[in-house]
Amino acid sequence: MMTLRNLPSVEQILQTEVAARMIVGFGRPLTLDAIRFVLDGTRARFKSEGITVLPSTDLILAQTESTLTAWTQPTLIPVINASGVILHTNLGRAPLSKSAIHAMDLVSRGYSTLEYDLDKGQRGSRSIHAESLLQKLTGAESAFIANNNAAAVLLVLSALANKKRVVISRSQLVEIGGGFRVPDVMKQSGAKLVEVGTTNKVHISDYEEALIEAAGLVMHAHRSNFKLVGFTEEPELNEIVTAAHGFGVPVVDDLGSGALYDTAQYGLAHEATVQESMQAGVDIVCFSGDKLLGGPQAGIIIGKADLIAKIKKHPLARAVRADKTCLAGLSATLLHYLKDEAEREVPILKMMSQTLKQVRGRAEAWAAELGHGLALSNVEVLVVEGESTVGGGSLPGESMPTFLLTLKVKSAEKFLRGLRKNNPPVIARTENDKVLLDPRTVLPEQEDALLVGLKNVLNY
Ligand SMILES: *Cc1c(COP(=O)(O)O)cnc(C)c1O
Repeated sequence: MMTLRNLPSVEQILQTEVAARMIVGFGRPLTLDAIRFVLDGTRARFKSEGITVLPSTDLILAQTESTLTAWTQPTLIPVINASGVILHTNLGRAPLSKSAIHAMDLVSRGYSTLEYDLDKGQRGSRSIHAESLLQKLTGAESAFIANNNAAAVLLVLSALANKKRVVISRSQLVEIGGGFRVPDVMKQSGAKLVEVGTTNKVHISDYEEALIEAAGLVMHAHRSNFKLVGFTEEPELNEIVTAAHGFGVPVVDDLGSGALYDTAQYGLAHEATVQESMQAGVDIVCFSGDKLLGGPQAGIIIGKADLIAKIKKHPLARAVRADKTCLAGLSATLLHYLKDEAEREVPILKMMSQTLKQVRGRAEAWAAELGHGLALSNVEVLVVEGESTVGGGSLPGESMPTFLLTLKVKSAEKFLRGLRKNNPPVIARTENDKVLLDPRTVLPEQEDALLVGLKNVLNY
């Protein structure tokens, strides 16, 4: 009868060649941890489950190696997005342009002028980096970049409206997802929420009545992923601005997505642009870097110099400020807009501007490529019309026509699981038991990997 004394010791295992190789690959402390973890597990099972045969040293080594692999497997890895959702929040939103990636790479490699003034040879300001580009693009006097737009909104409210009344339309008290609720963010900032109007109808007189009592801000918030239809009415932004300014109260517009271009040119609904918001006379505009702008995760705050100065001085500004890679990538992205080359360079704009003919061509090329081996399997491949969506809390209910590669397989769910096991994993969707892949959101350089992935799951 075997006893636990027959189990090899940590020392004995360490003597083996395999263990030496693992130490080279994973480092000694982690390898030791893994060996102990496997031995402890074996002992526990021996005692509790009455296992009578102890594993060989070879088996313990194999278990140690798979433990080490599991422990060190990165969890944040690239995937191929064939879902047709352009700004997929779960898949990291906007892929970046080549220049943005290059700029981020350069500043990560070494030291940079993050807060250094080369002319003076002394400390400079981090907030200048994207500022002049934003000034030129939007006409704003000043800018501050936060880590994301949620942080930007929290900072703006904290700096400008702590303990003050903030007037906002009832129709804009939305939850944008991920637990970000406009009223909760207001409460967190110390602002006193003053709701005006009703859920569906808000009049300018509602704002005016609320402004008779002193207020710190009027807030306007994009409804994000939610749409108000039917018997509805809301004043134009410039009317709200006129009313607020009449009472000497500044207006903040949380645009959410914050496009610098007209989405209508891609057959989508018109989404309020940053420039329109500025032209309406808004004092502060906040928007995301990684939604319709197509840059890195950031919260962009632009507007009047005196208000931005207050925002920059608030203690939260330090806590939520953007890092150097974000500032580098954001600047490179903004430069595409300034040089009028965004549609050519910014991946999400390339995706939106892809013509139906181009998408169809790609889907048909994929089908043809798969067709060569299809005789071997009982899978039906078709190219059909479908819809892509923008996502990212913008343009609710809007979609753009596309062409999809559809695969009729035995189990669509099983097929999707197989696609997710690929390297890189492929994310697709299903409908009526069919697997759907939308070329619109697949980056051209990922097409080969996608086809390899599909062939892997199709088994040829
Ligand atoms: C998306 C969104 C935010 C949050 O922006 P993040 O960059 O995701 O933090 C805030 N407000 C609105 C209206 C949004 O659509």
